[in-house]
Amino acid sequence: MTAPYIETRGLSYSYEDADGNLHPALDGVSVSIPRGQFVAVLGHNGSGKSTFAKLLNMILTPTAGEIYVDGQLVSTPSEPDEDTVFDVRRRIGMVHQNPDNQIVASIVEEDVAFGPENLGLATEDIRLRVDASLEAVKMRQYASAAPSRLSGGQKQRVAIAGIIAMLPECVIFDESTSMLDPSGRREVMNTILSLNRGRGITVIHITHDMSEAALADRVIVLSDGRVRLDGAPDEIFARVEEMRSFSLDVPQSTALLYELRGAGFLMPERTMSAAACARYIKDELSRLADAGRESSEG
Ligand code: ADP
Ligand code: MG
Repeated sequence: MTAPYIETRGLSYSYEDADGNLHPALDGVSVSIPRGQFVAVLGHNGSGKSTFAKLLNMILTPTAGEIYVDGQLVSTPSEPDEDTVFDVRRRIGMVHQNPDNQIVASIVEEDVAFGPENLGLATEDIRLRVDASLEAVKMRQYASAAPSRLSGGQKQRVAIAGIIAMLPECVIFDESTSMLDPSGRREVMNTILSLNRGRGITVIHITHDMSEAALADRVIVLSDGRVRLDGAPDEIFARVEEMRSFSLDVPQSTALLYELRGAGFLMPERTMSAAACARYIKDELSRLADAGRESSEG
């Protein structure tokens, strides 16, 4: 067993209201994420997804529990030291939801250079990192463009380039595709997949899009601040009733299989591609037709 890259133990967080009352948002989350894994995090609004992301990124300090990164204890309920926060944020980058809130500079390459400049790197090293990062998100030809002229998907790719320029080990995407049009979503998903599969970067992708979650190695379902389901996408999506009990849908193809089973078809208890599903229905129909012929002949 390789050591987990990120491990949380009993991780909890409560927000305090103006009257000093505590409202739990994350409640005893213990997960272990190996290096290089692509994890999708699902959960209806208010289930604690962003709180979880902010704890991992050390924007929030846990109310209870611990976070380990690469075997090292980095976050506990006591005030973290600044060096640890700086180091964790470099290693675990975060991309947010709104593409317009993440770009600070008025020229693309200056925006991407922002992080490496904060690391105090030499000018030529910064140049190399900026070029490589823009190349990685296929935005190099926009290096001197004004971010305001870019599409949402392009802006998110610039935001991702800014994170990659820090050479992170993990990137958390907090609903980073949710404000994009279908082509923007596709561009960003392709970028996320290339970071994960091409560079071995650990990915935590918070999303409401089941087709995106289906691309992950693992799906974690949060509800009321707790982990309710955790497994391979096929395994999780097959649990249609449980998913619905957490106000979540399943991919349309899975929902169709589920309804077909309910209607008496002998569909397998797993998810399948649309093409495999079509073949299955065809076989099932000819089996039923054969059975019908036999019974009328017999
Ligand atoms: P998600 O990202 O899954 O929608 P969040 O982590 O943002 O969920 O929120 C979890 C819970 O914490 C919700 O009940 C939400 O209302 C509450 N919450 C989130 N942010 C704050 C905040 N800044 N102050 C008070 N309560 C908050
Ligand atoms: Mg959120």
